[in-house]
Amino acid sequence: MITKKRNLKNHLKDLSFNMTKVIDTDKYLDFVRQTTSPASTHLAALLSRLTELDTSADADVPRLLTAALGLSAEAGEFTEVVKKIFLQGKPYNEENAFHLKRELGDICWYIAQACMALDTSFDEVLQMNYEKLSARYPEGTFDVYRSENRKEGDL
Ligand SMILES: [Mg+2]
Repeated sequence: MITKKRNLKNHLKDLSFNMTKVIDTDKYLDFVRQTTSPASTHLAALLSRLTELDTSADADVPRLLTAALGLSAEAGEFTEVVKKIFLQGKPYNEENAFHLKRELGDICWYIAQACMALDTSFDEVLQMNYEKLSARYPEGTFDVYRSENRKEGDL
């Protein structure tokens, strides 16, 4: 274990040295391999982990996976429309606002999946968000300092 950590440190040193010049892609790929978990590289390890979570920890693995993949994908679709409007000359008009609302609906669908997986509701999630931000901004307005200097546990 210690040897593995030392090898990793040496890899990082080599990488940081080489990154000032030209990236050695073979070394970088070795680094990526070494820093990847077994569940990310072996189907048996992934299936074992998912089964452990589903049975021992009582996690709703299928729904959590559905929600995580879907939220990321749909947020990307929403962002793609905004990107094209802001950066690529696409007009900001009723049609594109409609498209954004449709993508927002898709995001909500995946939020509902996440709520089901976590045995919660939209109401509870919104309430938790309200309480978190109220505690972060007690004056009720955004504050750069408070945004950048959060209390421990303020995620
Ligand atoms: Mg969509």
